[in-house]
Amino acid sequence: MEKIAIFPGSFDPFTIGHESIVRRAAGIFDRIIIMVGHNTNKKSYFPLEKRVKWIREVFEFDNNISVEVHDGLTVDFCKKVGARYILRGLRTSADFEFERAIAQVNKQMYPEIETVFLLTIPEHTPVNSTIVRDIIMHGGDASRFLPRNFTMNGFKPGITEQSETDSTDTPGTPSKQ
Ligand code: ADP
Repeated sequence: MEKIAIFPGSFDPFTIGHESIVRRAAGIFDRIIIMVGHNTNKKSYFPLEKRVKWIREVFEFDNNISVEVHDGLTVDFCKKVGARYILRGLRTSADFEFERAIAQVNKQMYPEIETVFLLTIPEHTPVNSTIVRDIIMHGGDASRFLPRNFTMNGFKPGITEQSETDSTDTPGTPSKQ
């Protein structure tokens, strides 16, 4: 049976830390689906379409890695696509405590599911989407924390309107949410 792993997250934005976890896991599983959570009640900085597009570009040459959007429980998405593994990254003990509860609850809801954790490489430990987002929002250069083919061109700090529909294809265009 094909071993499919789901990598769920908001990826607001997707960072080198996320990319590293996915690439390492791609050698373990047959297929990885990056599930971009779309929670209508949760505000995101970058528009959903752009978060998805940027991640697709990162993995455009990786046939076993795809990106999908899901609004709802991760376990429901796993059932829908036939995945038996949830992939998560661990940076710190705080991550562990948070992830432990989610993984145990997911296991209760869907006993066939296994959550698999990969420890981050040391240099990615401080990288998180919130900090990267803050750097971008304040006009800083966050490129060292983003996957290689992300570009920061077109960044306009403080722009909050029309971001869902404008044609700028680069990180830095905030969501209007
Ligand atoms: P969430 O919205 O669930 O917090 P994120 O988009 O922040 O999701 O992250 C998704 C997953 O990636 C989580 O398992 C998180 O621990 C992991 N992750 C985030 N940043 C890093 C990093 N720098 N190194 C390793 N794993 C990371």
